[in-house]
Order: sequence, then structure tokens, then C-alpha cells
Amino acid sequence: MSDSDRPVILRNGLVLTMDDSHTMVSGGDVLVVDGRIAEVGTGLTAPDGALEIDATGGIIMPGMIDTHRHMWQTAMRGYGADWTLTQYFVWYYLESGKLFRPEDVYAGNLLSAIESIDAGVTTTVDWSHGLQTADHADAAVDALEAVPGRFVLAYGNIQQGPWEWSASEQFRDFFRRRIDGGKLAGFQMAFDIPGDPAFPEKAAFEVARDLGVSVSTHAGVWGATNDEGIRLMYEHGFMTPSTVYVHAATLSPDSYQRIAATGGSVSVATESEQNAGQGYPPTWQLRNHGIPVSLSQDTSVWWSGDLFAAMRGTLNADRAREHLEAHGKRETVTHHHLRAEQVVDWATRGGAKALGMDSQVGALTPGRQADVVLIKNDDSPAMFPILNPYGHVVFQAQRADVHTVLVGGRVVKQDGKLVGTDLATARAKVAATVGYLQDALGEEAWKRGMNPEIPETRVLTNPYQYTK
Ligand SMILES: [Zn+2]
Repeated sequence: MSDSDRPVILRNGLVLTMDDSHTMVSGGDVLVVDGRIAEVGTGLTAPDGALEIDATGGIIMPGMIDTHRHMWQTAMRGYGADWTLTQYFVWYYLESGKLFRPEDVYAGNLLSAIESIDAGVTTTVDWSHGLQTADHADAAVDALEAVPGRFVLAYGNIQQGPWEWSASEQFRDFFRRRIDGGKLAGFQMAFDIPGDPAFPEKAAFEVARDLGVSVSTHAGVWGATNDEGIRLMYEHGFMTPSTVYVHAATLSPDSYQRIAATGGSVSVATESEQNAGQGYPPTWQLRNHGIPVSLSQDTSVWWSGDLFAAMRGTLNADRAREHLEAHGKRETVTHHHLRAEQVVDWATRGGAKALGMDSQVGALTPGRQADVVLIKNDDSPAMFPILNPYGHVVFQAQRADVHTVLVGGRVVKQDGKLVGTDLATARAKVAATVGYLQDALGEEAWKRGMNPEIPETRVLTNPYQYTK
């Protein structure tokens, strides 16, 4: 029996099943057999030889799902912390993105994939828009396949129009070789629709339709994509229930209605929208239109693969907006619309639904794949008492409290340590990529890229200062 086939039982935790009625089981056990959830309950009997994991004092929940992350950019972790979208576009799209070789895409993807499973993010969409050649695409997939998480490749290439790369024999060949019947959890096509009235992206949508794959697109991004892109998609019949609209922050009510009517979902990347400037995180709008939500962390060139941050940031932003709007009308918000429970749902079930994987992952119910996270840290004063479990996950817990992670029943992290994952290799490869890029850019450009100019701040004249 290989380790991944061994039954596992997590014992005596507070189980957030995230099933349709959000059933909670305190003092609960989760039994995993043949890689799937076999049973959730109390005092369960485990088969002989099962791995027993003591979840006492912890929270057991489904693995989290990130529906949009540019994983190749993790090689530049934190470099763009002070960027706006403008600096991002200049650095990656115009100037330096084309410097990335296949081994650099591999390095970023490898580190990002390991970061995901370490953080309890068991499914991650690699919104991979640095695939300049088939070698880059092979490298991206090689890295994802080297890490025991669940990954969806969203194929893109910012160096060409989507109508160009999607029409190439290279792309078709890659799809046949690596995707059709391959090991990844899924495949999407990733491209944006800036609103050219000639709608050249039509050809790429037709390829997606032909291959039977979904499209993920950065929509409603201030200064980049807008209502015109949505209108063109709608009028040509390319808005479907499996379409994922990333950000969808700067759109008119009409566009939200088109999204709602065609059944698509929005991937909200709150840390990104707040820092880069795509628009205000749109959950307050999505709620009004009944549009399904998943969460994402976008890119580690600014932020990190931390879905706790996504949940917390999203709840903060929604409530901040509600208070600010009320105060503008001289009113007081006495009850919040958005609850912690809802953002935990978005980080699990919401992602599963967005990716068409809701029968497989996203909840701890019998028959689903056993993607399980145990949040437990007996050394942390912040893990006691657990009174409001959803609130605890959102506002108290953090990545360092991710104790154990299972993907498809395989233990990939136990007792706070990754299992069977070669972080040293990922570090060495990322270091080589960083060294190569520093050389390629030169010291001056490297520093300039990381440190955009600060606009002048004019301190207001203050009439209350004492004078002699
Ligand atoms: Zn993005």
C-alpha cells in the first residue's frame, strides 16, 4: 500500500464541512479512504492501518481554492510591493516579461505550487500568461506536475494576441500532448478583451469552444478592460456559466446583469484590486446582482498565495465600503451584509463551483476528493478559544496555523511540515532566475523597477498652529 492509498482519520476536531447547509460537527472525525471522504461524524471506526491525526483544538475544513494566480511571477516575490497596475504593465507586459525563459517559468511555478499546498490551498488556477513558446508551456506544466497539489492551467501569452497563439499548431500540439488526458486538474484559456470593436478575440473564443474549455478573463479593470469587452462577449454568445471574470471591479450595472444572466462567476482578488487599482473590490455589486464569487490572490510579485489574506481582505473591503457609503448619507450601518461564513464559503465551495469541480472538491462530504486542511496550533495564543469558527478562520488563523493538508487523500503537510516536497530545489531554481534577471536588467534598472517614484505630498496649511 503506498502512502497515498493509506486510509487517514482526523480525530476530534471542529469540522466545517462546507456542505450545502454548512453543517458543523464539533468533536468530529473525518475518515478518508481511497483518496476520498468516506465519512464525517463522531467516534468513527477507522480501518486497520489508518493514519490517525489528532485534530483536538483545531478546525478541519476543505482545502482552499485560488481561482487566479500568475504563478510564474512568484520568482519575483515581493518585488512589486509598491507598484500600481501601471508599473506592473510596464515591467511584465512591455519591458521584462519577455526575458523569462522556460526555466524561469518552471522556477516560479514550482515555488508557487509548494506555497499553495503549504498554505492549505489545495487547488490553484495558474493564470499563466507568460507562455511565449511551447517550451514555456511545458515548463509550466512540468512544475505543476512535480508538486502534489491540484492545479488548473489557464493558458495565456501576453506577448501575442490570443487570436494568434490560440491558432498556432504549437498550441494545439501542446494541448494534445499535455492536457487531453493529462495529470492536471483542469485547463482554461486565459486572455483579456480590451474592447476593440473588430473583436479579434472572437477567434480565440472559438478555439476554446472547439476544445470544450473555459475562458478566464481580466474584466472590469480600470484603464484596461471595460463594458465594451463584456458587450462584445455577450453579443457573440461567448459568456457562459463556466466563464470566470477576474476582478470585474469597474463595470456598469448592465455588464453585471449580463454576467448574472449568463451564469458566470467573478474571481475577486481584493488585495490586488485595492493596491493595483482595478477598481473597488466588487462584492457589494456582485451581491446585488446575485453573481457567484470565488477568491484569488493574483500574483506574488505584490502579495502572496495566502487565502486567509484573501478572506480577511474581502470581508474588510466589503464592510469598509458599506460604512463609507452610509456615512456619506449621514447614516449608520447597524448590521453587516457580509459574514465571515460567506467568505469561507467563497474560499472553498465558491472556487469549486467556479471551476466546474463542485462534485469533486470544495466540501467535506462523502464521495468527494479528500482535499482537507487542519488548522491547529497548540503553541498559538490566537487559536483559543474557538467560539465563532468561521470568524476564527477569517480573522484569527493564519498560514502558520496550517497543521496538516491532504490532497486527494495524500498527506502533503503534517504537523506543520511539508511532506515529500523538495523546497530546496525550488529555492535554488528561483535564486538562479533572480540572478539571471538581475544580470539581464542591470543594477540600475533592477532598482528603478522596484522603487517607483513617489508623487509629491502637499501638506495642508494648518490654521491651528500656535505662533510666537
Ligand atoms: Zn491577474
